[in-house]
Amino acid sequence: MNGPILCDTTLRDGEQSPGVAFTAAEKISIARMLDEIGVPEIEVGTPAMGGEESEAVSGIVSLGLKARVLARNRALISDIDASLGCGVTVIAISLPVSDLQIERKLGRDRSWVLTQLCRSLKYAVRRGLSVCAGAEDASRADQEFLCEFARAAAACGAERIRFCDTVGRLDPEETFKKVSDLVSRVPLPVEIHTHNDFGLAVANALAGIRAGVQVVSTTVLGLGERAGNAALEQIVMSLKHLHGMETKVRTERLRPLCETVAQACGREIPPGQPVVGEAAFTHESGIHADGVLKDPALYEPYRPEETGGVRKIVLGKHSGRRALLHKLKELGLPLESLQVSDLLEKVRCLSLRRKRSLADWELSRLYEETFVLPDAVEPPCRGKV
Ligand code: MN
Repeated sequence: MNGPILCDTTLRDGEQSPGVAFTAAEKISIARMLDEIGVPEIEVGTPAMGGEESEAVSGIVSLGLKARVLARNRALISDIDASLGCGVTVIAISLPVSDLQIERKLGRDRSWVLTQLCRSLKYAVRRGLSVCAGAEDASRADQEFLCEFARAAAACGAERIRFCDTVGRLDPEETFKKVSDLVSRVPLPVEIHTHNDFGLAVANALAGIRAGVQVVSTTVLGLGERAGNAALEQIVMSLKHLHGMETKVRTERLRPLCETVAQACGREIPPGQPVVGEAAFTHESGIHADGVLKDPALYEPYRPEETGGVRKIVLGKHSGRRALLHKLKELGLPLESLQVSDLLEKVRCLSLRRKRSLADWELSRLYEETFVLPDAVEPPCRGKV
């Protein structure tokens, strides 16, 4: 079954992460990677910002990518002109739809929003642009007004509506209800854009997909405002393995993509990051390491090669005999199984002292100290491990 269209917004919402700023050259190279990996739509920035940002947008447009390139706009003629100036053919026009944002942020009312929507949409459509109408704060809006907004967008020529859970305040069940209702009542394809304030961005996006959206908004590593958005790599792998849906993304290139983006952010990928974290396919505890050596499916949801990763068995405080023997064999260090206990205790002890799993050189050294140079002085291990 074909999955939804991915609209990746790493270069727009992702870049709005606190402390993240991409140069034009970085944006261009990330855009190229997203295109090569098979992401069909990328939202690349906000031309109205001018300067390096609009240069980056123009630069990406001129690459002639297979992916559709979107630029983000407020419902202002000047924003649309700035997008036109960058040569984009697809834009998102964003307007708040919750009373809270309409009143407190803009000091306006619902009818002003509808007027502004139609005015900007018509202006853009007359100039040949395809437009996604972004309903900001849709999750906190009155659902009747949201539907009215969507119908107005359809009447004024929008190609789709973006349902934004702007402050990430939905859970999957609520998302499913609201999005199903919207999908059934408006004559436009719906996109879902979720935020991760409660750690539910991916779960909510998946619920939106079950509810019938045609487009899902993602960012690499889940970058984005505050706690971020739904992570591209998690959505792709969840669609494939949990929903049985294909996205045409070359998943084996997800890891290099994530590493490039992390580097451009000046951030490390946290070890426990789903899909692409260092720990995602690393096994230490005795039972798990023994399990994956028998059959990886026992403790892995899919093969690490699918995302460009590798399975690792590491030695540490929780290691067992089988993992140790496996590791020694890998390193070409022969050992009788009768001798394992001694070495295993030293492995656990050193790992506890260093508060991490051991590197190969550390294991080699312990091996030498134990069997090759048994008289070498060892630091004492405090306490029984
Ligand atoms: Mn957002």
